[in-house]
Amino acid sequence: LNSTLPRRVVVTGAASGIGRAVAEGALASGGRVLAIDLHPDAAWDAPGLVQRAADVSDEARITEVFSQAPALLGGAPDAVVHCAGVYRWKALAETSAEEWDLSMRVNGRGSFLVSREASRIIDEGAIVLLSSVAYGRGDETEPGSAYAASKGAIVSLAQQLAAELGGRGIRVNAVAPGMIDTPMLTLGNTPRAVEALTAHLPARRLGTVDDVAAACLFLASGSAAYITGTTVHVDGGYLAS
Ligand code: NAD
Repeated sequence: LNSTLPRRVVVTGAASGIGRAVAEGALASGGRVLAIDLHPDAAWDAPGLVQRAADVSDEARITEVFSQAPALLGGAPDAVVHCAGVYRWKALAETSAEEWDLSMRVNGRGSFLVSREASRIIDEGAIVLLSSVAYGRGDETEPGSAYAASKGAIVSLAQQLAAELGGRGIRVNAVAPGMIDTPMLTLGNTPRAVEALTAHLPARRLGTVDDVAAACLFLASGSAAYITGTTVHVDGGYLAS
């Protein structure tokens, strides 16, 4: 098996949650990481880690930081894992046009800009984009049309880019996490509500950031050499049940 883990990785949204777990996983296996976030973690330091502040929806800044990436990483990145995103749940009637634009700007435009700039600097490797199970199932109790639609755009983007970039040796996939144990989810729900949420899940528990990071790093690795244009659900069976 070709289990080559990526050696030079760009991770966005790396200061928190899933992005942080991806960056730490790549560093732990001896890789070098360029960690990009709107708010980098000033207290975070590790051998092989470089951090840069950037808004993924800011074209000029993302172009600038990605053009510096090969020099910062000591060579062309072999993987870009794009985790930065905003998560908003609101009923349709309460969703303002500004909130719709925010989801589309950060999640949609951000994924487009990061993918475009990644494709300019990766010689051969992988792009992993973060979608969400929200793309694949409506939810009456926790409605979020702007978020769901922005995450659906990422599934389509990964399919299209896989076709467009495959000839250049670049694979593109999406990961769709389900209910992951982050402050975002646990702060808004009591332990009893969390138990109710997971009672009917095949996995019977929330996912961890490491569950999601493992899938991202697998897709970024040589082990996934024949996987492109797909969306991997890391959801404990949510979409299947
Ligand atoms: P998180 O809030 O813990 O981390 C997101 C990071 O992205 C933060 O550090 C934040 O500063 C950064 N960020 C936000 N906007 C940015 C911007 N414009 N430019 C640069 N950085 C920006 O979130 P998470 O739970 O780790 O989620 C990571 C990804 O996974 C997101 O795309 C999210 O939509 C997706 N996701 C998460 C869950 C979940 O249950 N946590 C479920 C499905 C999908």
